[in-house]
Amino acid sequence: MSETFVDLHCHSTASDGTLSPTEVVQLATRSGLSAIALTDHDTIAGVAEAAAEARVVAIDFLPGIEISAEYPHPGTMHILGYGVDPDSATLKSLTNTLIAGRDNRNPRIIAKLNELGVKITMDEVEKEAGGQVVGRPHIAAILHRKGYVSSIKEAFNKYLAQGAPAYFDKERLTPRQALEMIRQSGGLPVLAHAIQLRTDNDGQLDRVVKDLVDLGLAGIEVFHSDHNPEWIDKCEKLAKKYNLLKTGGSDFHGTNKAHITLGTARGHRVPRAYYDELVASVSRR
Ligand code: AMP
Ligand code: ZN
Ligand code: FE
Ligand code: FE
Repeated sequence: MSETFVDLHCHSTASDGTLSPTEVVQLATRSGLSAIALTDHDTIAGVAEAAAEARVVAIDFLPGIEISAEYPHPGTMHILGYGVDPDSATLKSLTNTLIAGRDNRNPRIIAKLNELGVKITMDEVEKEAGGQVVGRPHIAAILHRKGYVSSIKEAFNKYLAQGAPAYFDKERLTPRQALEMIRQSGGLPVLAHAIQLRTDNDGQLDRVVKDLVDLGLAGIEVFHSDHNPEWIDKCEKLAKKYNLLKTGGSDFHGTNKAHITLGTARGHRVPRAYYDELVASVSRR
């Protein structure tokens, strides 16, 4: 059989993507992928639908989730959880806590935008999100549609990004809590897009990863749409040094990140072996 490719990091309308779980899976097949993992922010609400469609189109599917952990500004630490058990009580309580954190934050963003003269309501934002997980890309999409900005990127730069006037942090788990809860939910924790940690040098990056390994980290995302060859190399070396699984994905969000194509991460494709090794580790748990 010829080599096939996978995508282990993508978002649907269950969080801040613009394609439904079914549409993401259909696009995966059309893109020639043999497997995907859905990794919506703070929810697995899209997983059942995606799994059902994956059976219809006969590609392999792994449930996932993406969680933001506490980490010093200006960096961000995102942890992917693969193979979480949808029936896990820990997972249920985890997603409820994370969504409550968003429910506290989002009205503050909207109030600040109103103060800045931007006409937008929480109702519009909830309608845009269409589900429980309301994220900044939903707000950005509305600002774009209403003509306050000329792109989603500009909405972040002008209003929503860290350091911009309408930025508010959401309550996060500590890395320890994030890793423990993913494991207690039956999943394996993987560090996403390490470039976004914005570490100052390789020594600092190594220490951050080592601390996560000590807390139970199982893998590191090597290929990602933000990872240039230098970061791919750094992550491969860390995977080798700490005996971590290697993963990769596009971080597809549909038109909320229009520059990203499902199935490619900065021109790289993710080998099927990454999926097989990840699934083998999940099932050994
Ligand atoms: P939230 O879940 O509300 O914190 O929003 C997170 C989403 O916003 C993720 O998909 C991020 O990749 C995206 N995001 C964060 N910062 C930026 C930025 N400066 N430009 C574009 N997208 C961003
Ligand atoms: Zn997102
Ligand atoms: Fe992320
Ligand atoms: Fe993501």
